[in-house]
Amino acid sequence: MSSRPLANSELGWLAYDPAPESASLARLAPSYGLFINGTFTDPGAHEQVPTLNPATEATLATVAHAVDEDVDRAVRAARHAYDTVWSVTSGAERAKYLFRIARLIQERSRELAVVETLDNGKPIRESRDVDIPLAAAHFFYYAGWADKLDHAGYGANPRPLGVAGQIIPWNFPLLMAAWKLAPALAAGNTCVLKPAETTPLSALILAEILQQAELPPGVVNIVTGDGATGAALVEHPGVDKIAFTGSTEVGRAIQARLAGRGTHLTLELGGKGANIVFDDAPIDEMIEGIIDGIFFNQGHVCCAGSRLLVQETVADEVLRRLERRVEQLRVGDPLDKNTDVGAINSRAQLTRIEELVAAGESEGATRYSSSCALPEQGYWFAPTVFTDVSQTHRIAREEIFGPVLSVLTFRTPEEAVSKANNTTYGLACGVWSEKGSRTLWVAERLRAGVIWANTYNRFDPTSPFGGVRESGFGREGGRQGLAAYLDV
Ligand code: NAP
Ligand code: MG
Repeated sequence: MSSRPLANSELGWLAYDPAPESASLARLAPSYGLFINGTFTDPGAHEQVPTLNPATEATLATVAHAVDEDVDRAVRAARHAYDTVWSVTSGAERAKYLFRIARLIQERSRELAVVETLDNGKPIRESRDVDIPLAAAHFFYYAGWADKLDHAGYGANPRPLGVAGQIIPWNFPLLMAAWKLAPALAAGNTCVLKPAETTPLSALILAEILQQAELPPGVVNIVTGDGATGAALVEHPGVDKIAFTGSTEVGRAIQARLAGRGTHLTLELGGKGANIVFDDAPIDEMIEGIIDGIFFNQGHVCCAGSRLLVQETVADEVLRRLERRVEQLRVGDPLDKNTDVGAINSRAQLTRIEELVAAGESEGATRYSSSCALPEQGYWFAPTVFTDVSQTHRIAREEIFGPVLSVLTFRTPEEAVSKANNTTYGLACGVWSEKGSRTLWVAERLRAGVIWANTYNRFDPTSPFGGVRESGFGREGGRQGLAAYLDV
């Protein structure tokens, strides 16, 4: 790439002063129990596991590690609530609870944003402007469906499935909880939710919100723990449906465990999204779209545009501008309102990113990383772009799940489509072009669940989201998201 642009540290008076959000807004308890049957269990009754702030490695709180018996109690509570309360509550009544939860999320949004940023490492600007508002929007949206299920296109009087076991990852903790809980509750199911080990806190604040909303006990139960807790939920014979978001590896294991059991299953797994850039695309918007596609949430995004496919005629220009823009990304304190890229969520994820980046270098790709200074403490990775990438390189095939972009080039739309589809995944793609006809031609041929045109990483509760092939099956969001929780 060309001569080095100025880094943030060299911008002089153009540099931003720190604008930190207050960590004290989080008001965390030192330790948390499990949320079962409407109440928190005594934290002292369980083994406690710390959850860290990945930006500092400091312990934020400790949470209970749910074992098999705890999961069993949670599933029984959900079953009892289903039989005695929720399955006989009208859709209009269920809607009132969902509206209440949505409003309470809005009321406590500042606190939730701080908790999310502390526990996950994502920039406060993202938790404040994306995660929390979208979580509330999902509850609002599905509240609207709760009394209209007869009109959802699944025939008259569609029935809920019963007890849903829901296992979520660490990249969008509260938002994934909302994606799972809101449609399940609207459709009349009760839930047992298992948050990720490294990001349990916003789900526990949500449990407080469910109490505030006076949701009947047992309708939602939250069991914190690790992969073994998730596995116990999958194994439990009292669960009618498993909804899982996470790695393809674990998704595959879950599907194998459930084979022949008649338990309903939806899987939202990994991806290796292609962001396809044609030479007629408006370049400034496109550069922002590429940046947003891979550096949003440190690249911890299943649908990230982690492969940039750029038309050869504009490749030099795009790469030059991209490098300049990457150099300007502000990396650091996630609580600072000016931060663009925060901390990597865990030591384990950082190790995985480092391993794949080392593989990219040793396989012959050319690495460019931002010259930004990284904090001493915590887990960090500088925004990185690889050029000279071949389709066989690991960085072109495997999900890195970090702020690392692999750039490939193409000459014709046919070549773009064939390279984009040359993956075992099929979650999302982006197409950038001024010509609608070309965008549609390409979109029709891409094998992916979500295709964005002249934008990337745009989410809305009304729009179904999900994958094909190794990215999983089932849809979340929209009318289609209800089908995952109805016997249709
Ligand atoms: P993961 O292991 O699949 O974790 C996802 C969720 O499943 C977590 O709640 C996890 O619990 C739980 N879990 C783990 N093992 C389980 C088992 N055997 N049975 C049931 N539940 C189980 O994902 P990860 O380790 O956090 O991340 C690994 C890779 O997955 C990432 O590098 C990325 O490529 C991909 N990923 C994709 C998404 C996505 O949105 N599609 C999200 C996250 C990660 P614990 O967290 O407590 O272990
Ligand atoms: Mg944490």
